[in-house]
Amino acid sequence: KMAASKAAIAPFEATPLDVIPAVSSNARATFRSHQTKDLQWRIVQLRKLYWALEDFKPSFVAALDQDLRKGGYEAVFTEIDWVKNDCMFMINNLETFAKTQKLKYPDVPATYSMMNFRVKKEPLGTVLIIGPYNFPVQLVLAPLVGAIGAGCTAVIKPSELTPACAMVMKEIIETRLDRNAFAVVNGGIPETNALMEEKWDKIFFTGSAQVGSIIARKAAETLTPVCLELGGKNPAFVTKKANLALAARRLMWGKTLNAGQVCMSHNYVLVDKDVVDTFIDFLKVAYKEMFPNGAKASVDLARIVNARHFTRIKKMLDETKGKIVMGGQMDESELFIEPTAVLVDSLDDPMMQEESFGPIFSIYPVNTLDEALNIANEVHRTPLALMAFGDKSETGRILDEMTSGGACINDAYFHGAVHTVPFGGVGDSGWGAYRGKASFDTFTHFRTVSETPTWMDRFLRVRYMPYDWSELRF
Ligand code: NAD
Repeated sequence: KMAASKAAIAPFEATPLDVIPAVSSNARATFRSHQTKDLQWRIVQLRKLYWALEDFKPSFVAALDQDLRKGGYEAVFTEIDWVKNDCMFMINNLETFAKTQKLKYPDVPATYSMMNFRVKKEPLGTVLIIGPYNFPVQLVLAPLVGAIGAGCTAVIKPSELTPACAMVMKEIIETRLDRNAFAVVNGGIPETNALMEEKWDKIFFTGSAQVGSIIARKAAETLTPVCLELGGKNPAFVTKKANLALAARRLMWGKTLNAGQVCMSHNYVLVDKDVVDTFIDFLKVAYKEMFPNGAKASVDLARIVNARHFTRIKKMLDETKGKIVMGGQMDESELFIEPTAVLVDSLDDPMMQEESFGPIFSIYPVNTLDEALNIANEVHRTPLALMAFGDKSETGRILDEMTSGGACINDAYFHGAVHTVPFGGVGDSGWGAYRGKASFDTFTHFRTVSETPTWMDRFLRVRYMPYDWSELRF
C-alpha cells in the first residue's frame, strides 16, 4: 500500500552560489529579531513541521524510492514517522527543557544562598545543518527539530546524492515553516563551501569522518562550535554462550535495513571459532526467512545510492582474500548488492579495514574474548557503535573494555532507534549528541546568571580594597 505513489517532485536544482550569503544573513537577522525566543512560536513551527511530514508522506515515499529504492515500510518508520516522533517529543517537553533552572543549596554554597543563581537556556543563534545520503530525511530534519525547539534559526543542506528528498524538504520548509527563519540550500561541495564562508553559531554535520574533518578544520578558523555525527568501523561480538540463531537474525537485520547503509551497522563480526560454522548456518536460515525468493526479489530491500558507492562496495568484495559464505550476488544495472557475509582470516583484509556502509560484512573467527577485544580495539578504538551477543558477564566485559559512541547488547543498533534517548559518537566517530532532550541541549547555550541583591553590599565589604588583612588566616 505504501509503494511509491506518483507524487510530483520538482527536478533537482542546486541553490545558486550568489544567493547563499543572503540566505544566511536573512536567518541571522530573524534570530536577532528575538521572535524565535517565544516558546509558542517554536511550538507552532514544530507543529507545522509535524503536519507537513504527514501531508507530504506520499512525496517522501516517492522521493525515497527514487533516491534509494527505499521501500515504503522503511520510508515511513525510519524517516517520516521518525521525525514526527521527534517533533511530538519536543512539543510535549519543550516547556520543561526551556525552563530556567534555579540553583539552590547544595548546588550553591550556603554562604551565597541569599544571591540568586540561575541557568538560562538560550538559543545558540543561527545554525547550519549538513546531512548525508543514507537517511536523507531524518538526518537533517531530526536535528532541525532540536534547532527549532532550542529557538535557533537554521539553514539545512541535504545531501545532493538524494536529490528527490532534497527537493521535497526544500518545498516543505519553504511552504510550511517561517521562511525568514528556516531555509534549505541544495547542492554538493561548492554549495557547502559557500555556506562554510558564512557566520554560524553552530554547525551540525552528519557524514563521513573525512568530510567531518574538513568541516571541523574550517569551523575552527572562526571558532564555530561543531557537532559531528560520523561513521565508524563498528564491531559485533558473538561468543560461544550467545543465542546464535538470535544473533544471526538480528545481525542480518542490521545489514538489511536500508541495505546496510547505516552508520551504526556492524562492519565485522568477531565470532568464537567453535561456533562460527553454526553462526553462519543461522545467518543462512535468517536470509531464507527474510528473502524466501532471494534478496533481489524483495520489495523491502533498498538499493545502493549510486554507481560510485556500488563500485566502492564491489571493490571490497573483489579484493577480499576471504571466502563468501552467504550472498555475493550483484547487479550494477539496478545497483543491487545482496546481503553478503565474508569469512576472513587476516586483519589486513579490506573487509576489516574499510567502512562497508552497505549490505556486506566480514566474519573473523577468534579463540577467546580477550583476542576479540584486542582486535576490536586495534581496528578502531572509538567506533560509533558496538553490538555484543553473549552472556551477562561477557557483554559486561565487552562494554567495560571497549568504548564506542553507543552500544547494543543482544541486538543490532537499537540504542540509536528510540527518539527519547541521546545518540552520538565518541572520539573520531563524533562529537556531541542529539535526539530526546539532547536535541534541545545541543542547540542551547546554558547561560549562568547571578543576581546580587542591592541590600547585600554591607556583607560584601570584605571584597573591596583596601582588603582587611586581619581577616586572613595562613
Ligand atoms: P559525506 O561525508 O560524503 O557527505 C556528507 C555531506 O557533506 C553531504 O551533504 C555532502 O554534500 C557534503 N560534502 C561532501 N564532500 C564534501 C567536501 N569535500 N566539502 C564540504 N562538504 C562536503 O557522507 P555520505 O557519504 O553522504 O554519508 C555516509 C557517511 O556518513 C558514512 O561514513 C556514515 O558512517 C556517516 N553517517 C554517520 C551518521 C551518524 O549519525 N553518526 C549517520 C549517517 C551517516
